Amino acid sequence: MIEIRENVCLAPYTTLQVGGPARYFAEPENEDSVIEALCWAQRRALPVFVLGGGSNLLVSDAGFDGLVMHICISGIDARDDGGKRIYSAGAGVEWDRLVAQAVAENCAGVECLSGIPGTVGGTPVQNVGAYGQEVSATIVRVRGVEASTGERVEFGNADCGFHYRLSRFNRADAGRYILTHVEYALQPGGAPKIAYADLKRHFEGASCPSLPEVREAVLAIRRTKGMVLDENDSDSRSAGSFFKNPVVSRAVLERIAAGSAVPVPHFEAGGNVKLAAAWLIEQAGIARGFTLGPVGISGKHTLALVNRGGATAADVLRLKAYVQRRVHERFGVELLPEPVMLGFGEVNPASATK
Ligand SMILES: Cc1cc2nc3c(=O)[nH]c(=O)nc-3n(C[C@H](O)[C@H](O)[C@H](O)COP(=O)(O)OP(=O)(O)OC[C@H]3O[C@@H](n4cnc5c(N)ncnc54)[C@H](O)[C@@H]3O)c2cc1C
Repeated sequence: MIEIRENVCLAPYTTLQVGGPARYFAEPENEDSVIEALCWAQRRALPVFVLGGGSNLLVSDAGFDGLVMHICISGIDARDDGGKRIYSAGAGVEWDRLVAQAVAENCAGVECLSGIPGTVGGTPVQNVGAYGQEVSATIVRVRGVEASTGERVEFGNADCGFHYRLSRFNRADAGRYILTHVEYALQPGGAPKIAYADLKRHFEGASCPSLPEVREAVLAIRRTKGMVLDENDSDSRSAGSFFKNPVVSRAVLERIAAGSAVPVPHFEAGGNVKLAAAWLIEQAGIARGFTLGPVGISGKHTLALVNRGGATAADVLRLKAYVQRRVHERFGVELLPEPVMLGFGEVNPASATK
């Protein structure tokens, strides 16, 4: 029988290391235990929240008055299929373990995603991506359980609704499914992807770097930005990028450009334009290393809000609001947070009740 613990502090389960307790807490190690925990919550009409590595999450100081299901399904299997190597991993596997194994086995497709914190189960949710790769390019199957019915479900790539940092699992169906396994089709002997400017610079003049060399370069570049979890680097005590790059109309871009002495970085986004949140924050006068009480902006990355020690969720929210206000005052643009908020009333936790 699955063990259900009470009043478990969630802060240590998140990379920001803030937040209060879960009223109930379970750690299912297989699909059957997920269903068992769901039934337990259903009998008590409790909301359920699925926790992976807590690396894209801000938990409120009040915590969560329901069941937090910390997915601990382990195991990586690999098989050959039609010239590809299919890696099937439990949702609780640490993502970077899978990347390290694939790279060591000379399989291409996820090498640029080295060093991203969190679990395998978290990767389809926001279509994790970095340095020119996204998991949507390699995911072939996602398995899980529907929270409201306890039924087992399976999705092919086309069913996942992948877009930039989006999928059905964080949009229309947010909180509806508990993902238990993900399959990635990787290319044995494939060439590493070197599309990102920092990577290109790193390998300038080098001929045909290997997958392990690219992995090491990605990790090295990420470390300079505090984007690899490291106990000794307080700049990595974050939830990664805290703000999304805002998508605005061309008219808004033109208005901002007219008032700016320097070119405004932007990218095309389906008829609109995507602005660089980091640029907006810096131009609004908030520099890297800025501090507000026990929280601040990373000294290495403008988009990362970091816990400098002993911070509460309220401290993080205060800094978030400060950054949003300054950017809004300066540019009239609203910055939206990227991490999932739990216990603030904004989330869409899985419903265990029919
Ligand atoms: C230092 C740092 C660097 C980062 N760099 C990047 C980056 O380069 N690119 C990038 O895309 N992201 C990045 N992130 C964000 C984060 O690592 C990813 O979003 C990651 O995939 C989150 O996975 P997780 O297991 O930690 O999910 P959690 O934070 O635990 O949960 C996030 C959301 O996913 C849901 N979820 C998690 N597991 C499951 C599951 N098994 N079934 C159903 N729902 C689930 C949760 O309910 C929640 O809604 C970074 C974060 C940090 C702290």
